[in-house]
This record gives sequence, structure tokens and C-alpha cells, in this order.
Amino acid sequence: MGLQENSYFLSAGESLLCDQNERFLFTEAELESLDVEVRFDLPEISNKSYRIAVLKDKGKCLLLGALDLRSALSQTANEDEFSVLSAAAQVVTWHASFKFCPRCATKLIMDEADLAKVCPSCGHHQYPRLSPCIIVLVRKDDKCLLAHSSKFKSGRYSTLAGFIEAGESAEHAVEREVMEEVGVKVKNIEYVCSQSWPFPHSFMLGFMAEYSEGEITPDGEEILSADWFSVDDLPTIPPKFTISRQLIDEFIKNV
Ligand SMILES: [Zn+2]
Repeated sequence: MGLQENSYFLSAGESLLCDQNERFLFTEAELESLDVEVRFDLPEISNKSYRIAVLKDKGKCLLLGALDLRSALSQTANEDEFSVLSAAAQVVTWHASFKFCPRCATKLIMDEADLAKVCPSCGHHQYPRLSPCIIVLVRKDDKCLLAHSSKFKSGRYSTLAGFIEAGESAEHAVEREVMEEVGVKVKNIEYVCSQSWPFPHSFMLGFMAEYSEGEITPDGEEILSADWFSVDDLPTIPPKFTISRQLIDEFIKNV
């Protein structure tokens, strides 16, 4: 997408907007004809800053439509592009979802110093929401465990993932999720990498783990089927930009 520092993402409601050429970064000058409700800064990425302009009424801008986020993310050229787009999408969702103070129901306003909203009545601060999740590739000798979820397209397999529960460590969440979803016990859990995943506000912590004991038994609800796959015999796996794919690529590299 060619990152231009100080350019703007546009949003209306929970969507990022793009023009007819699927361009989603706009210049200050292009905002002049638009009815902007609020502008705010995104967190800096690699020392570059980007802003979001929230439009009052998208209906007036006939050239703008909702951006297909998955498609746009899949076309990002590098980690920076992925991060900028992911951040914009998550902040826009947050802005659209948190309008009132959860303590006293007063309308929130943007904080002047931080990427946060503040309640003018009671002073409560509301920061963009992040939901921590684990995602794990389980290996057994030269094979890895991949599963087909009820949410996936037909034939697509991926690593296992789930939300971290209140009071739980990430490592415990790995053990629990693998047991719940496929009935397998794991050991030697090692952290690999992380990724912010804007559907809508997950923060994925990626792990490798080794098989310890048990037979694969899909839970039948979230996971419909699962199996051990060797590098020569992989099913359809997630695209390059996903953390799941990074874990699978790491497995392939080291097998
Ligand atoms: Zn309040």
C-alpha cells in the first residue's frame, strides 16, 4: 500500500473506508471536502505516525466504501504495513464501540494526551480493548497437529487457538485449550512470537509445544477434525500474513 507518513485512515461506524481503487490512506488535503467528526493519532509504528479521521456521515462520500480488511491485510507487503492497518482497524472498532462511560454512562471524550477516552464527569479512562489469546503449534516427532474449525472454509486447517481466561497464565491457556479442543496433553511449551489480530481485538501470543500423551479427539463443536501432518503432506493452511502460518513455517524450517 506504500506507507505515507502523516496520512489518514478514514472511518465511519466500525468500518475503515477505501476509495474505488481500494486505497485506504488519504492526505490531509483530501479531507477538506469531508465532514470529519473527530481526528486522532494512532500509536507510532517504526517511528512513523498515522492518523484516523472519523466521518460524520459516510453517505455523503459516494466514492468511499467499506474496506475488506482480510483482503487488505493479506496484501500487505511487510510487518509494518500489517501493523499499521491492524492498529487502525482495532482503534476504529474501539471508537465505535465505547462511546459512554461504563461507570456513570456520561458520553466519553477523546483524551488529549493518550490514545484513550476519558469521562468528563468521573474521570474514568477507557483504552482500546485488547483480548489476549494463545495460538499454538503442537509437534510430535516430524509431524504437527492442525485442526479444521467450524469457522473455517472447507479444507482449511490451522493451529489451535483460544482466549486466555481471567487469572490464567498463557502457558496454562495453551495446555487447557489443546486439551479442550483435541483431548491431547502437551509439554515443553515455548513462546515464539506475537501478533495483533483485528477480528475484532485479539492479541495473539504464539507458542510451540510438544505432544505428551493422549489420542486426538476433536471436541465436535469448535474443532470438527484434526490430525498429525508431515511437511510433505500439509493440507490447505492459512495465508502468509497470519501468525498461524508463521508458526507452521517455523515448524517446516526446523523439522
Ligand atoms: Zn464516568
